[in-house]
Amino acid sequence: MSAPSSPSALGDLTQHPVARQLGQRFADAGFELAMVGGCVRDAVLGRVVHDVDFTTNARPDDITVLVSPLAEAVWDVGREFGTIAARINDVTVEITTYRSEDYDPESRKPSVQFGDTLEGDLRRRDFTVNAMAVTLPDGVLIDPFEGSEHIRRGVLKTPAAPEESFDDDPLRMLRAARFASQLGFQVDEPVVVAMAAMAERLEIVSAERVRDELIKLLLGAQPRIGLELLCDTGLAALVLPELVAMKETADEHNRHKDVYEHTLMVLEQAIDLERSHDPASGPDLVLRLAALLHDIGKPRTRRFDGPHRVTFHHHEVVGAKMTRKRMKALRFSNEQIDEVSTLVELHLRFHGYGSGEWTDSAVRRYARDAGPLLVRLHKLTRADCTTRNTRKAQNLARTYDQLELRIAQLSAQEQLDAMRPDLDGQQIMDILGLQPGPAVGEAYRFLLDLRLDRGPLGPQLAEEALRAWWAARTG
Ligand code: ATP
Ligand code: MG
Repeated sequence: MSAPSSPSALGDLTQHPVARQLGQRFADAGFELAMVGGCVRDAVLGRVVHDVDFTTNARPDDITVLVSPLAEAVWDVGREFGTIAARINDVTVEITTYRSEDYDPESRKPSVQFGDTLEGDLRRRDFTVNAMAVTLPDGVLIDPFEGSEHIRRGVLKTPAAPEESFDDDPLRMLRAARFASQLGFQVDEPVVVAMAAMAERLEIVSAERVRDELIKLLLGAQPRIGLELLCDTGLAALVLPELVAMKETADEHNRHKDVYEHTLMVLEQAIDLERSHDPASGPDLVLRLAALLHDIGKPRTRRFDGPHRVTFHHHEVVGAKMTRKRMKALRFSNEQIDEVSTLVELHLRFHGYGSGEWTDSAVRRYARDAGPLLVRLHKLTRADCTTRNTRKAQNLARTYDQLELRIAQLSAQEQLDAMRPDLDGQQIMDILGLQPGPAVGEAYRFLLDLRLDRGPLGPQLAEEALRAWWAARTG
């Protein structure tokens, strides 16, 4: 966790040219305007602020009138929720009318009431760390629920009683796990108790909202914390029951590792490998989902094969199907579903490689079946080794190194094999006025050599070189 920043980070926030411009304009028109939520939290944390949200006592129609002259574009994000978005000097902002909202417990939609005070608006926010605002244009921090103190202590609390808050919007329970993963904060005990007591209320929340929070949880710095919280509170049973089943597939004799603990380790090891092939890569949702789900077929395929052997035959195939089903229910895109389930299905293939006995054609097939997912498959397969036996782990890593090398060599060879000179046989014959015969092959090999030496030349330079070669040869 990074240390809370000095007040200057908040100062920087209010000095943002767009914030200053908007602040002045709203003030001139007699309205209040404040920066609020995630951007204030991140500024206090000294983190990069990615999007800026504003809150105001102006109603949506007034907001539209006020921002239109400054903005390249203005659009409704949800006028009924009081949110107007605008693009100003290439920065996208969202401005929302103060709310004092209650969710209709029976419906999936929040029922929105506009409010008149900033404090009232902050009170209905999810966590105290998200319930801070900085007023504009004067830049005063408004923190009625001790959000900055809770940031300092690294704890997530709700502004009002957690039961009341989760009753208003059960999604907040998932958001608690999400922020725990993103910020590495402890969720306050009464909040955890309310989550456990009210987990089932999550059923009224739409799959899309659940998915978006799960994505953020998984992309956080410490998904283990968030996932464990979901399991401990019973929320996982609703959003990802497969995770709970893995937890219950502990081996009573401890002969093999608990599938759940193995899964969390694979996820963490996959995260550690995210930048292995490209230092600039960021968090990779597809890889993380594949790591999380790679063994979900195990509980269903577990068989006791004699007193000392447990098997999970075809768990990768069963797991790929289960992955599709779960991701579909959570409304992931078809592309994401295809990518993750393909990785789940291929995650064991390497283990048929033994100590390098694959033929070239098996290696080619491995690369072809993974297609554009090959680098992710490399990472997943390497991450899927959690043995405590260091010798064994090193051997597996070395064997995989060899496989990666063979794939690279075969693909380089294939690119070479596919390489053509800049001119084809017919062009050579036309340029030199030749009939088919050995001289054409000779010319062709000359041009191919030239291509290998110097890279692509283009037809004009190649023709000049060909003529010079021919003149030297015949002359
Ligand atoms: P991120 O960095 O992921 O954008 P964020 O804190 O900005 O994090 P958003 O989902 O963008 O999260 O929401 C913006 C703000 O709106 C939050 O900081 C919080 O104050 C408030 N908020 C969002 N969703 C809820 C909710 N379900 N219940 C109460 N308050 C919410
Ligand atoms: Mg945000």
